[in-house]
Amino acid sequence: GRKFFVGGNWKCNGTTEEVKKIVSTLNDAQVPSQDVVEVVVSPPFVFLPLVKNSLRPDFHVAAQNAWVKKGGAFTGEVSVEMLVNLDIPWVILGHSERRLILGESNEFVGDKVAYALAQGLKVIACVGETLEQRESGSTMDVVAAQTKAIAERISNWSDVVLAYEPVWAIGTGKVATPAQAQEVHLELRKWLQANVNAEVAATTRIIYGGSVNGANCKELAAQPDVDGFLVGGASLKPEFIDIIKAAE
Ligand code: 13P
Repeated sequence: GRKFFVGGNWKCNGTTEEVKKIVSTLNDAQVPSQDVVEVVVSPPFVFLPLVKNSLRPDFHVAAQNAWVKKGGAFTGEVSVEMLVNLDIPWVILGHSERRLILGESNEFVGDKVAYALAQGLKVIACVGETLEQRESGSTMDVVAAQTKAIAERISNWSDVVLAYEPVWAIGTGKVATPAQAQEVHLELRKWLQANVNAEVAATTRIIYGGSVNGANCKELAAQPDVDGFLVGGASLKPEFIDIIKAAE
């Protein structure tokens, strides 16, 4: 089976004091074991060492982004090599906020995923449609094109978690219904089956993100193709523990 995966994307939030408080809440929490759920939290770059060094050992950390190739003269960027050097195991790539606000194209995200995997990082790769795209009926075309740009550039999917995050559900309180999430997750799995292979389709975790909270997580988690969550706002709150427990 696919192990349940719960990621907490802290985005561009937090002070040192707030970060210490979140870590302390996580460290004190009673949650299902690592055999049942994989928990990964993603603080801003500047807090990665603090979180990595103070977080309980059964939880892991992810960066929220990384540069597309080897580091060098790229002012303001953080390289994959630096994350590897700091022993950061995961990176989130292709988040819609980076695609839409920072202008990252499907190809650029695909290149980032390929580079990060090649250097030994595990990747949470994000896809998702805007409201306009959903309303025009192009949801599947959009997420397939985003996934294709990744699939064309990688051969090993074992270190990839695919996050379906509809843009209209992110930070809006408008969570996808369990049926809406399940529909796209199943379509993505079928896409992997047709365009990669059956094993990758069966084993790749496809997680949902967008207004997940303690109240709606159970019903979403019960969908057969929802293998976990990528949580934004609620990952900064004690409620994140309830979302981790949705694994059971
Ligand atoms: P919210 O949970 O705040 O909607 O954010 C989801 C998200 O973008 C996680 O990456």
